[in-house]
Amino acid sequence: MPASSLDSIVSLCKRRGFIFPGSDIYGGLANTWDYGPLGSELKKNVKSAWWNSFVRERQDVVGLDSAILMNPKVWEASGHVTSFNDPLVDCKDCNERFRGDKLLEGKLGVEATAILKLNQVQPMLMAEKIACPNCGKCNWTEAKQFNLMFETHQGVIKGEGDLIYLRPETAQGIFVNFKNVQTTTRMRLPFGVAQIGKAFRNEITPGNFTFRTREFEQMEIEYFVEPGKDADAFEEWKSTVWDWYTGFGISKERLRIREHEKDELSHYSSRTIDIEYEFPWGWGELFGLANRSDYDLSQHQKFSGADLSYTDPDDPKKKILPYVVEPSFGCDRTVLTILLEAYTEEDLGEGDVRTVMKFDPRIAPVSVAVLPLSKKEHLIAKAQELYKKIVHETRLTVDFDVTGSIGKRYRRQDEIGTPKCVTVDFGTLGEDDAQGEKDTVTIRDRDSLEQIRIPITKLIEQLR
Ligand code: ATP
Repeated sequence: MPASSLDSIVSLCKRRGFIFPGSDIYGGLANTWDYGPLGSELKKNVKSAWWNSFVRERQDVVGLDSAILMNPKVWEASGHVTSFNDPLVDCKDCNERFRGDKLLEGKLGVEATAILKLNQVQPMLMAEKIACPNCGKCNWTEAKQFNLMFETHQGVIKGEGDLIYLRPETAQGIFVNFKNVQTTTRMRLPFGVAQIGKAFRNEITPGNFTFRTREFEQMEIEYFVEPGKDADAFEEWKSTVWDWYTGFGISKERLRIREHEKDELSHYSSRTIDIEYEFPWGWGELFGLANRSDYDLSQHQKFSGADLSYTDPDDPKKKILPYVVEPSFGCDRTVLTILLEAYTEEDLGEGDVRTVMKFDPRIAPVSVAVLPLSKKEHLIAKAQELYKKIVHETRLTVDFDVTGSIGKRYRRQDEIGTPKCVTVDFGTLGEDDAQGEKDTVTIRDRDSLEQIRIPITKLIEQLR
């Protein structure tokens, strides 16, 4: 069973060091979050798993790491300066600001809300008697377009001409490098360019923990294809991504695909689907797949004057502007989903409930914990020796824990989702046959709670 409430995850994350409120000692900064020791390992593992699946294990995708700050013309060309807006409404009673469409989604549904025109938002809020979440009144201003891009200034003198933006998506860094990547790698169509990186959006109503924040990470691929082959590539990516998410143990019952209505499509897209997850507060977007046609490359050609066409290596006279299929993953939303899915409360009888994070072993923040049974010096020394052996020979993330009773330590490892615990006892040292034979250790499995005794010589193979 996944976590049924967000609160249980938020409190576990803080208690165990997965995710802390940002700038905590200063009273925080609303909706900012810092990944702690376990959270940063988990996130790093998610990013590596993604990079391995979509870059290293594929011959048709290469990686990129482009700058967050870009020439502001990029955002004029991409359409973000004019079109990257959300409908903002103010409560006339308490002056709080909200996204009008998000207020209506609960009543009208996502599809019906997405096709509302700007001037329909306020009348609809009034007609549906949508109360202000802050003060409970229903007294809304007309909706205004609010641009989500964060502005900043480059250089030491603030003035005209130095206005730049924090990128609102990683995609444009790929488009502007299309020619650089293609000519240096000599990739042939179809091929993709992938990147993982921060994006910034001045969201009107951030919230639901890390689901909607103003600073977040995306994992995006721009997949370039010949025009006419985009529809097939779209279908392929749809099933590849579905398999990737479900392959990490995310339940199919809590995942669904939502096709965007024609009126709902972004200015650049001819077809979009979202993969949504059933979060504790309802369905929410985890991933988006868009057919961007040749919109971006042709806009950048137009605005930059550069030739971004692709020359067919078999027919140098044939020049094409590729179409683009874009699989776009939210990294923080993926981590949040994995946390929610992993959370399990297990009734062990007689009022004993254990909390266990059932992470897929490939992404668990700690893979193995080495636990000496007692604090006796020579036992700790043996356990340390084993710890070093596991780290060096497997490169897994290994924890070493000596504090508290062995039962408490097992529970602590369950709560952080460590798949295997290795216990070193006096049997290991050859000092107590009742605990086990010399040079053997106990391995405990997080999920089955099964404990097996194995020779140290088999340990590495077993853990691998
Ligand atoms: P939403 O409708 O939830 O605002 P979006 O459709 O604007 O999302 P995209 O532009 O498709 O999102 O971005 C791709 C992915 O980036 C999303 O599927 C999501 O996982 C992630 N993402 C977008 N906005 C945020 C945010 N404010 N906080 C965290 N992740 C986000």
